[in-house]
Amino acid sequence: MRLTSAFRHALALALSATLFATLALLPPAAAAAEVRVVASFSILADMARQVGGEHVEVTSLIGTDSDAHSYSPSPGDVRTLSRADLVVFNGLNFEGWMERLLKTSDYQGRKVVATEGIEPLKHAGHDHGGADPHAWQDMERAKTYVANIRDALVKADGDNAAAYRANADDYLARLDEADADIRQRLEAIADDTAVITGHASFGYFAQGYGLRFLAPQGLATSAAPSAARMAELIEVIETQNVRALFYENMTSPNTIDQLAEESGLPIAGTLYADALASEGEAASYIGMMRHNARVLHRALAN
Ligand SMILES: [Zn+2]
Repeated sequence: MRLTSAFRHALALALSATLFATLALLPPAAAAAEVRVVASFSILADMARQVGGEHVEVTSLIGTDSDAHSYSPSPGDVRTLSRADLVVFNGLNFEGWMERLLKTSDYQGRKVVATEGIEPLKHAGHDHGGADPHAWQDMERAKTYVANIRDALVKADGDNAAAYRANADDYLARLDEADADIRQRLEAIADDTAVITGHASFGYFAQGYGLRFLAPQGLATSAAPSAARMAELIEVIETQNVRALFYENMTSPNTIDQLAEESGLPIAGTLYADALASEGEAASYIGMMRHNARVLHRALAN
């Protein structure tokens, strides 16, 4: 079919009029977020979104269900950082690559070390140095994270200070509520009960909620234990009231599978350790803590 030039012109006009009408029906685009926040991993990203609300645009360098231990920054991460207004990271040597990445990105903006002011636990045999960095695993300490993020946002964007304070108050209240629920749930588990997880990231959870966690690797999330270490673990299982094994969402399941086979212990579920889930309940920090408590309770309560 051949269209005359006049007809084509009319058609184009009609199409653009339709397009214009369609656009006019769309809701107005949300106002651009005032503060571009980059968080090192998904748990911090969720906290920053909870406190920042509509005023922030948050990017997480390490994705959901991904392992911070084996992460290495990409050129895209350098670009993301160079455009950021605020960088949030855990500290306590959790992100061993961060200082170098900040330098490479020539980042001159504000930084928040989320664990600032937290008294760290010692961490034996993990690959983050002497202090245990996994402080978010205790919700009481997580409140310090939230306060640090709130204070940094207030400094970075004073115009919205009232909103950040109100969001933080609301979020802190929800943390308290979840913390109390978790505490109550885990009271039903006897104090000397021990469990084994993929890597040693539950020290604060153990201290905060009164459970014993043992970890096969002790070291990194990726290292496979030697035959001698495996024999030691079987010995530990037989003498230390170890009742169940758990996968971690971002750690290879191989060691836990092997341990289950050799010890006959059940694998009682997946715990969220160093990363959120991409969807479902554990896609938020509060959700992941509630999930972990429920999985532990189901496996271990008398
Ligand atoms: Zn870890």
